[in-house]
Amino acid sequence: MLTVQNSDLHEDRFSRLRLIPWWDQAKLAACKALVIGAGALGNEILKNLVLLGFRRIVVVDSDRIDVSNLSRTILYRSEDVGEFKVNVAARACASISPDAVVQPIVANVLRDCGLGLFNWCDIVLAGLDNREARLWLNRSSWKVNRPWIDGAIEGINGVARVFLPGAPPCYECTLGEVDWAILDRRMSCNLLAHEEVTEGKVPTTPTISSIIAGIQVQEAVKLLHGLPTLSGSGFVFEGLQHSSYRVEYTVNPDCMSHYTLPTITSLSQRSGDLTLNELWQRACSDLASSEVTIEFSRDILHKLVCPHCAAEEILFAPVGSVSYEAGRCPADGHMRVVHTLHGYEGRESFGARKLSELGLPPFDIFTARTASREIGYLLAGDAPAVLGLLAQGGG
Ligand SMILES: [Zn+2]
Ligand SMILES: [Zn+2]
Repeated sequence: MLTVQNSDLHEDRFSRLRLIPWWDQAKLAACKALVIGAGALGNEILKNLVLLGFRRIVVVDSDRIDVSNLSRTILYRSEDVGEFKVNVAARACASISPDAVVQPIVANVLRDCGLGLFNWCDIVLAGLDNREARLWLNRSSWKVNRPWIDGAIEGINGVARVFLPGAPPCYECTLGEVDWAILDRRMSCNLLAHEEVTEGKVPTTPTISSIIAGIQVQEAVKLLHGLPTLSGSGFVFEGLQHSSYRVEYTVNPDCMSHYTLPTITSLSQRSGDLTLNELWQRACSDLASSEVTIEFSRDILHKLVCPHCAAEEILFAPVGSVSYEAGRCPADGHMRVVHTLHGYEGRESFGARKLSELGLPPFDIFTARTASREIGYLLAGDAPAVLGLLAQGGG
């Protein structure tokens, strides 16, 4: 009776949390959290998650640690400068809580992350600094029916918002004319990447990131417990005036984000095992139709065509992965026309390509569609390569 088991010691770690009457530690331990962004907000989100006892976390970011990050990132030290943020963040989280498994993914969420990641998780937490990535998160989360929690900070002000698929308003509903103008500019120049992309250097402090990320993670905890959240609204905090208030958004009936796949079928294959045409044949059989279109999760760069000499260069690459300068014809220097692809109808010659040879990320979802039905196909065979240890246990 007096011997203290290791498991009892472990449980003591959370004993103060369990004093909260509605608290259920098991809910947090079981939750699969996807954190997008490992900057100022991402650090605070991750720190809060592991302190609270979240154990299954994937963190996505493509950046390396810069010395200027160190004023706002509790998980990074001077000697980490130059390393990928997610790798250092994962190690730091493991040292805070040895029970936490944090899978780092060095990736740009817009082009390198399959929708399978969104489908894997129970909740998405975002620490992003641009509208384009937020819009992508919003549409991806809706597609696979996962809640996502946004945070945005500038100066000593910030906002935290909760978006639940199936329960608009969503993030896209909140966008106004100014937002769309900024988005259109960003998206059009991202088809081919300009070399001198000026990264948004947003002025922020560790104080505002801890406040907003604190609200984000707290909302996640409430959501997991079935408590009322900020769903469809935002919590605004203005540091100078000490004013905080809740802003209610309105549903945009023309919003393009409100779409959830009715069915997702897990395929045991990897994206390198299956050709596009083989997937199409499977879909024709499942949907009992030969009028099936396979829709990609996002547009891809198909080819560059020179308007001057008509020479073509076949790409099959992610949008944004080819530089603007590489867009010129090597023979005559003319800027070539970019052709994109977003699907397959069973006839095109590229159907012989493996799914991994299309410029789409692994662990992705392909949507097969007829006039009346649709099915999402998840390339679940890619899960171990993408999720590591987290692929086990219902990954
Ligand atoms: Zn919407
Ligand atoms: Zn040419």
